[in-house]
Amino acid sequence: MADKRRKRVTEFIEPFRVRPGSEVTLGKDFDPAFKAGVKKKQGVALLAEGVRLLSEYQARLAAQDTWGVLVVLQAMDTAGKDGTIRHVMSGVNPQGVAVHSFKVPSAEELDHDFLWRYAQRLPARGQIGIFNRSHYEEVLVVRVHPENLDRQKLPKAARKGDIWRRRYREINNWERYLSDNGIRVVKLFLNVSKEEQRARLLRRIDLPTHNWKFSAADVAERERWDDYQQALSEMLSNTSTEWAPWYVIPADRKWFERIGAGAVLVHALMEINPRYPSVSKQQRETLLEVKQALEAQAPKGAAPDPFEQGQAAGDTGDAKRRDG
Ligand code: AMP
Ligand code: MG
Repeated sequence: MADKRRKRVTEFIEPFRVRPGSEVTLGKDFDPAFKAGVKKKQGVALLAEGVRLLSEYQARLAAQDTWGVLVVLQAMDTAGKDGTIRHVMSGVNPQGVAVHSFKVPSAEELDHDFLWRYAQRLPARGQIGIFNRSHYEEVLVVRVHPENLDRQKLPKAARKGDIWRRRYREINNWERYLSDNGIRVVKLFLNVSKEEQRARLLRRIDLPTHNWKFSAADVAERERWDDYQQALSEMLSNTSTEWAPWYVIPADRKWFERIGAGAVLVHALMEINPRYPSVSKQQRETLLEVKQALEAQAPKGAAPDPFEQGQAAGDTGDAKRRDG
């Protein structure tokens, strides 16, 4: 059952995966409207299954306290990063997740090396961390708008030669270090088309409740669409690695985007396969001694172990027993 499900998820996400070493041309190689033959109606059940699995795996991840998961989300404006986070993580215990949004760097951040601010926000073991924008902005917006690089106060030598190639290498090495040390890196690029972006920008103008989301800066960035597609293609070609591959998620249909993103995250957790820690024989014996002592404290007429009794009757929840 579990094996079958894992196989199904692996096959489902395969078309999104950027094969390490492959040369990507985003506009040609990935269709933003792809939906893997899934109908929107079926999509509801699939997303519900994904949300349930994530909740289950997240509980085990936290209990095991060995692996952390870093989800890197990149996308063009309006592609649906926020909605994807909201829907995919809707079933997960908020204590186990932290979302960090990266904006224009502060003066303090610019006073450090370029990976510093991202390293500050890494998830701990047992935690899922989500980067809403990430260290990849350092080879995207910084590349498309080189004035960002001017603000980074780099020594002359660090700007010589092909700085982007060097950054790809540095990012790959950093992610390798993280995965070697128990922080699994899951990278999602939410791929929206230029035409769908146009429609979504108009929607933000047309719907008064969405006006707040509209930013003139997004329209200015849209003017640079081709430059971003070029920078994105190079990023995907150079930073999809065996230890941290990129997944390009079709984003023109929001319902499919959420299923796709959820499936990649579920798949990563399936590979980690975290387990609840088991106790040693000695710990178990101690537990049984305490159990005996607690049972001896039962007031007159009470079951020595109400939980054990409930379990025999098919009741597993303590809240239910208290209500009944
Ligand atoms: P938003 O995510 O829409 O709130 O916008 C955040 C803005 O911060 C975007 O315009 C990003 O391009 C910008 N941004 C994020 N990271 C960097 C960075 N490292 N350098 C310059 N701008 C950045
Ligand atoms: Mg924005």
